[in-house]
Amino acid sequence: MSYDPSNIFARILRGEIPCTKVFETNSVLAFKDISPKAPVHILVIPKGEYCNFHEFHEKASPTEIHEFYKATQEIIQDLELDQDGYRLISNYGHNGGQEVPHYHVHILGGTQMGPLVAS
Ligand code: 5GP
Repeated sequence: MSYDPSNIFARILRGEIPCTKVFETNSVLAFKDISPKAPVHILVIPKGEYCNFHEFHEKASPTEIHEFYKATQEIIQDLELDQDGYRLISNYGHNGGQEVPHYHVHILGGTQMGPLVAS
């Protein structure tokens, strides 16, 4: 799968469309989901061009991978989601329902989550 530079998160990274930023480092950006599924719904993305989980882990440097998960952890702590709990999701491919082909994790919190998958 080749990276599509016109995907919506690439456009956010280039500043072509706005986002509500909550966290940023040299290699990571986090912002609010435009269509939140919980009171807290944050998307965390690496700034590098990786389509999905597999590409990120195969091609990103150890530093990028470390910084990505460190940022995710810091956001969770900053929002105090570790007090009552949260859910981390990364969708992949057709069955996973990935819509945007730029690797990301969803942080969901602020309420008790429902079932893991729709029944
Ligand atoms: P996926 O299904 O790929 O894991 O999730 C993509 C997420 O990106 C969805 O939850 C969707 O609401 C969010 N999203 C799509 N377009 C935009 C946008 O333009 N801005 C923001 N902030 N989120 C978006």
